[in-house]
Amino acid sequence: MYHKLTTVTSVFLLVALSIISWGYSAQAETTLIMGTGLPGGNYYKLGQLLADAVNKYTAQTGIRIKPRPTDGSFSNLKGLQDGEFQLGITQADAEYMAWNGKGHWAKNGKFKGLRTVYELYTEAVTCVATVESGIKTCADFRGKRVALGTEGSGTHINALEALSTCWLKPSDLGQALSVNPPQAVKLMTQGKLDAFFYTVGHPNNQLRKFIANYGRASMVPFMPTKAMSSQAPYYQKYFIWASDYPGLRNHGMKVDTFGIPSFLVTTDKVPAKIIYEIGRIFLSQLEYFKRNLPPMREVDPPERQSKRDLHWGVSAPFHEGIKKLSKERGIR
Ligand code: GLU
Repeated sequence: MYHKLTTVTSVFLLVALSIISWGYSAQAETTLIMGTGLPGGNYYKLGQLLADAVNKYTAQTGIRIKPRPTDGSFSNLKGLQDGEFQLGITQADAEYMAWNGKGHWAKNGKFKGLRTVYELYTEAVTCVATVESGIKTCADFRGKRVALGTEGSGTHINALEALSTCWLKPSDLGQALSVNPPQAVKLMTQGKLDAFFYTVGHPNNQLRKFIANYGRASMVPFMPTKAMSSQAPYYQKYFIWASDYPGLRNHGMKVDTFGIPSFLVTTDKVPAKIIYEIGRIFLSQLEYFKRNLPPMREVDPPERQSKRDLHWGVSAPFHEGIKKLSKERGIR
């Protein structure tokens, strides 16, 4: 009798379990590939954090995020346009170019399927120079060995913009190198580089370690020109706190430069309910992001932002899923 009962119970259990597991597998899992940035950068870290936060709930939501390392903004936008990525991070200037088919993006045409998910933190056009190079202002770059970032990065276009504030072109430099910030750090340590550019949110951990270990680095200030701020709906005056970088050789408490917002982006091909769910998890985990990635301290939930802040520098329309979420939270 006992034996019979256990057999009946186990058959029942087996059926129940297979119904449950069948139920789970019946919920098709959607994987979103996310374009991020170079290891050591904030985009890369944010990709990992977002994947951790969202993938914790995959069993309930059926959504999984897989972050991929890339060169940065333009690589991410290209990956979205080609259908290789479904999520990405970009600077506002790169988003503007992609949406309008302008500048660095002109050859790819207007990217009308591009959608904004959420405004992240401000990134600063940052240039680190060795003390020995004597580079103190923009005009001192003439004849120097400078890393301008790679084609797929937003860093690259900002390096050109920064040089143009004092009417310099790459051909005015001693060497204009298309290398990314981690490679530039190596070259500088080997004495083969005078300065490198990096458009990044502050403080950035990798930069902080490098500056402290290297001991002879300073940051070059830039003044955005009037034309830049009036033509470009995304640049703003900004500064970097010197105290965020122990060992930095600058005098004074801050380094003037210009800043650009960054965004989480997607395409209109990703269903509204998926972006809605990701947006919901993202906002509910803001404290987790802030704890693990200092520049994220700037990010507020929509209720705590003015309409201007929510839309500042945004070119591509918000995704339907985010519009739904904002409406629910009483934001228009
Ligand atoms: N803003 C940079 C770019 O698009 C990437 C910064 C980062 O990886 O944190 O080039």
